Amino acid sequence: MGRASKDKRDIYYRKAKEEGWRARSAFKLLQIDDAFNIFEGVRHVVDLCAAPGSWSQVLSRRLYLPAVAAGRSGEDLPKIVAVDLQPMAPIEGVTQLQGDITSEATAREVISHFHGHHAELVVCDGAPDVTGLHDMDEYVQSQLILAALTIVAHVLAPGGTFVAKVFRGRDVSLLYSQLKIFFPDVTVAKPKSSRNSSIEAFVVCRRYSPPPGFEPAQLRALLQGAWQAYGPEAQHSPLMRQVVPFLACGDLDGWDADQSYDLPAEGYVSLPPVQPPTAPAYRRAVEQLRGAPPGSVSGSSSNSAQAAAAAAA
Ligand code: SAM
Repeated sequence: MGRASKDKRDIYYRKAKEEGWRARSAFKLLQIDDAFNIFEGVRHVVDLCAAPGSWSQVLSRRLYLPAVAAGRSGEDLPKIVAVDLQPMAPIEGVTQLQGDITSEATAREVISHFHGHHAELVVCDGAPDVTGLHDMDEYVQSQLILAALTIVAHVLAPGGTFVAKVFRGRDVSLLYSQLKIFFPDVTVAKPKSSRNSSIEAFVVCRRYSPPPGFEPAQLRALLQGAWQAYGPEAQHSPLMRQVVPFLACGDLDGWDADQSYDLPAEGYVSLPPVQPPTAPAYRRAVEQLRGAPPGSVSGSSSNSAQAAAAAAA
């Protein structure tokens, strides 16, 4: 699909480029914030699975840049730590780590950046490479959330908020039950910028309050307990069918992610992506085409790579 065609079919793709966001996902976080006010009182935040960085941009623009404009400096500035498997181009006020959130070493590194402070907000937009096998995709996605929950257990302050992408598959109520152990207030949000055809939604978990005496090392055992507490037939028990409220968020009269919008008759220019991938998966193919030695084509400097990135974005 060409860029102009995508601009027409995906209004949020077009708007993201116009407003300087690296990905259309920025609107999802903004619409969640419109509904839940998740940034209020936040000074320390972790962005898990953050590349290419549009959520980190939102955090920078909403938390860091206003603090700089207000004359705050040093330790008084908000602290934003972002992590992804992929490298990310820099964003003002965001400390970036490259690592796997399911590994203990990455969790420890995130925690070390807070110097004993707690975060008031942890967000996770993580998604595995989908296989199309829904049960498998949902399982891998829920494992990413549980890895995020391990980091939450170490860094989130009591009363804090955790926002994470979920796939609403057949067994998602088990995940809701597990989240409910730590958060009395769990809502499933579907931002208007997330297509109806996609099974993705976001859990907005508020008022973090782990069980009395809880130690993060006990997390896995506690979650397994949530499963076993209902016996071997847990999946089929009505007790496991935790009902959590569902909220469609974003301006209901606003842009619809599933609709095509005509391009402006005058003055329309198809903009390139805001930030081409820093380490695109197609880099090797470009190198082979050019006969260049491996590693010599840079994702952000090669024209071919930029063109491929634009098409793939
Ligand atoms: N929120 C991002 C933004 O606004 O630009 C988009 C995130 S993208 C949908 C999902 C990301 O999850 C990918 O960049 C992928 O590398 C990352 N990811 C998947 N599994 C991961 C893992 N185990 N550890 C760290 N990052 C992971």
